[in-house]
Amino acid sequence: MRRPVILESTVTCPACGTATAETMPTDACQFFYDCAGCGTLLRSKPGDCCVFCSYGTVPCPPVQADGKLGCCAPPKPEG
Ligand SMILES: [Zn+2]
Repeated sequence: MRRPVILESTVTCPACGTATAETMPTDACQFFYDCAGCGTLLRSKPGDCCVFCSYGTVPCPPVQADGKLGCCAPPKPEG
């Protein structure tokens, strides 16, 4: 029942609208992204773990695999 993880996400710049297809790393998240169109440094929105979850067409691989958000947020210690 494993679904294939999509590794390519198209990031759309909120400043200039440039959409760029990027290959996502499977073992890390990308907090910052340089827009190829206008050079704006994008950063993940509050509550999102990475720029792909904020601006991409596909959420990052850990989110796809786990089916939850905040893949990169460190787990809160219990108690
Ligand atoms: Zn841009």
